[in-house]
Amino acid sequence: IPATSWDRALHLIGQADEVALACHVTPDGDALGSMLAVAFVLRSMGKRVVASFGDRQFAVPRLLRFLPGQDMLVPPEAYPAAPELMIVFDSSTFERLGLLGTNAAMARELVVVDHHPSNAGFGTLSLIDAQAAATAMLAEQLVYRLGGRLDRDIATCLYAGLVTDTGSFRYSSTTPAVHQMAARLVATGLRTDEIARELWDRSPFGYLKVLAGALERVTLEHGPAGGLVWTYVTRVDRAAHGLPYSELEGLIDIVRRTDEAEVAVVLKEDDQGDWQVSTRSKGTVDVAAVCAALGGGGHHKAAGYTSHDTVEETMAKFRHELRKVS
Ligand code: 5GP
Ligand code: MN
Ligand code: MN
Repeated sequence: IPATSWDRALHLIGQADEVALACHVTPDGDALGSMLAVAFVLRSMGKRVVASFGDRQFAVPRLLRFLPGQDMLVPPEAYPAAPELMIVFDSSTFERLGLLGTNAAMARELVVVDHHPSNAGFGTLSLIDAQAAATAMLAEQLVYRLGGRLDRDIATCLYAGLVTDTGSFRYSSTTPAVHQMAARLVATGLRTDEIARELWDRSPFGYLKVLAGALERVTLEHGPAGGLVWTYVTRVDRAAHGLPYSELEGLIDIVRRTDEAEVAVVLKEDDQGDWQVSTRSKGTVDVAAVCAALGGGGHHKAAGYTSHDTVEETMAKFRHELRKVS
């Protein structure tokens, strides 16, 4: 990221009385954590801050409720229609902002803070680094450059982003810079054990039942790229066990462990009846390319999209696109 871009960001923020922040729909730790960390600093600078994400049913996923700063969140209805200055996190397109996409399009200045390789820079200013393991790494930079002090609340938010997007420091994106950042954050006195437990080691009992159903029907196919493992969860499955959609985030991590599969897919029906498709590869296949062809996007080894088709049609189209890139 060029120094001139950071300077421009500081200038825009310096001029603004109110800053509107947003992250992608159904936020993960990186999206929400990055946004809240920056929100804390802006608030301490005396700015009016609104932060949100454009979900039709606005709710912070249960596993992210431990994040501090949620009093700064407002529902999309309460968001300024045409913000003077809007900063968006971890979002590669207007579409990823959901309901807030129109607000972003109307914003006078739109700063895009992101690490998705597919991000073409849809704002008036890009703070985009495709090499960064997490948007939280860029958010940390912004915190420092704004003169913010890394306190425990800010560090908790940034750590949630870093640890989420590196898969607890397991993915290939885990560089020395990632560990160095983690050291700075942990030095503020974070309870990394408690954060890990909140993020990954707890779920309602209903999750085990829904998981059992999903694993019962999991399928391994011989695909063009050496094995495709997939399963799905309907909203009826979830309703039977009172399980919110957001509890399914970890399911793909169980399915993708399959040795025989290069590619893993989980279809999750949301409350609107659309299929949210999570895809993972071991590295040979670029699932971001497959998902981009189907209207979504993401990273080489982790990507997704939305499908309005049936399970069978969705998988047929997925196999078709997979064949093209393999
Ligand atoms: P997950 O499977 O964890 O929901 O998403 C994995 C990655 O795929 C995310 O980090 C995000 O980059 C990307 N992704 C997921 N869903 C979508 C989508 O609908 N559109 C786009 N552009 N990217 C997505
Ligand atoms: Mn994300
Ligand atoms: Mn991210």
